[in-house]
Amino acid sequence: MTTRGERTSGCYAERLETLSPADRAAYQDAELQRIARHAYENAPAIRQKFDNSRVKPDEIKSVKDLERLPITHKHELAALQQKAPPFGGFLGVPWDRLKRICMSPGPIYEPEEIHSQNDRWTQAFFAAGFRKGDIGQITFSYHLVPPAFWFEDALHRLECIATPGGVGNTELQVQMMHDLKVTAYIGTPSFLVNISKKARELGYDLKHDLYLEVGFVAGEMLPESLRDELEQGFGMIIRQGYGTADVGCLGYECYHKNGMHFPHNCIVEIVDPETGRQLGPGETGEIVATVFDEVYPMIRFGTGDLSYYTDEPCPCGRSTHRLVKILGRLDQVTKVKGMFIHPGSADEVAGKFPEIDRYQVVVDRKAHADQMTFTIELKEGIDPTQELAGRIEAAIPTSMRVRGTVQFIERGTLPKEYRKIDDRRKWD
Ligand SMILES: [Zn+2]
Repeated sequence: MTTRGERTSGCYAERLETLSPADRAAYQDAELQRIARHAYENAPAIRQKFDNSRVKPDEIKSVKDLERLPITHKHELAALQQKAPPFGGFLGVPWDRLKRICMSPGPIYEPEEIHSQNDRWTQAFFAAGFRKGDIGQITFSYHLVPPAFWFEDALHRLECIATPGGVGNTELQVQMMHDLKVTAYIGTPSFLVNISKKARELGYDLKHDLYLEVGFVAGEMLPESLRDELEQGFGMIIRQGYGTADVGCLGYECYHKNGMHFPHNCIVEIVDPETGRQLGPGETGEIVATVFDEVYPMIRFGTGDLSYYTDEPCPCGRSTHRLVKILGRLDQVTKVKGMFIHPGSADEVAGKFPEIDRYQVVVDRKAHADQMTFTIELKEGIDPTQELAGRIEAAIPTSMRVRGTVQFIERGTLPKEYRKIDDRRKWD
C-alpha cells in the first residue's frame, strides 16, 4: 500500500516539470522549431497553413512567433478530414508507425503512434497521486473515442494495473472494485457519484469495503462541494485534468489543487479570440494548443474553451504555468456528460421528426449529473403522445452521443428569439 505522503509530492518528469523560466523558454522554443519543421515537411495540411500565411517553418523560432499562424478549430479539422480523408493532411508519420485510430464526433479520426513520446496524461496521473502498483479502474468508454486508451497507456507507464470498467454496469464495477481491491478511479465525477450510491445500496462501507485512495476525473466540471463530498466519503484524493480528443492532455491539478499545470511537453497559449494575439496571466481568452507529437502535429489548435492562466509559483515545485479555471465555451457548443453537443446535432434529431415545429435543448444539473431535455412545440394539430416522445428520445443518442428526455410544451411558449441550446447549469 502506498502511503498518503508518497502520493502528495514529487513529479513524473522531475527535471522538465521544474525548469527555470529561462530554461523552459529555451526548451519550448527548441521543441517548437523541431515540430514546426517536421510538420511542414510531413503533414500537407500544416504546410498549407504555413504557406497561406507566408511563413517559413524556420521563421518560427519562439512561442511568440506562433502569433503569425492562424488558429485551426475543430469544425475546420472535420471539414479538412472530409476533403482529404481520413486525417485531412495532418498525419505526420507513415501508416506503419500507427497503433490505433479513434473516431470522435464530427467525425474526426485521431491517429496514435506505436512508440509515442506523449506522456502528458502520465504527468497528470502522477500529479494526481497515482503511483506504481495502483490498480486503476477506467470508467470511460472503450468504444470509438480515445480517452480510455490514453488513460490505460498512462497507467502502464506508471507500472499500474488497469481494470477496464467502461461505461455503465455500475453494480459489476462496484463488485470489481471490491474484489480486486481497486485503489484508483479514472472517470467522470458523476459516475463516481453513481458508484458511491450503488456501493451503499449493496451494503458496502465506502472506506472499508472499497479501497480507493486516489482518483483522476475529467470530462465534466468538478464543483468543490462535490469533490469534498467524494474525497471524504471514500477517504481518497481526487484531482482533475483537462484536454481534448484532438490534442490530448493540456492541464492537470497537483496535490495543491490551485489550477491545472500545463504539461511540460506542449505549448498552451491563451489567445484573444478576435486577433489571435497571446494574452498574459489573468486575461481571459481561448485555450490554443501546440503539441510536439510527430504523428498528429497540431500547431495552434483552438479548443474553443475559455480560460485564463497564472504564473504564480506552486508549492509542488512544478514551474509550469496553470490554467485557473475553464470558464465555458467560445460558441454555443456545450459539453454534456463529457460529450460536446451543438445546435447542428440537435437539429439533426429534430429534422427526423416532421411533427416538431420549434424546440430548445435545456441542459441542467440534478444531483451532480447533467440532464438534457428537448423542450418541444409541436406543429398545429399534432398530439403530444408518449409514443412520439419515446421515438424522439430513442433518436437523440444516435446524433448527440448522449441520452436526453423530451418534454412537450404549449405552442408559443418559446420566445421569438432564443438560444437553441440553453445551458442552465450553475457551478460554484
Ligand atoms: Zn502544483
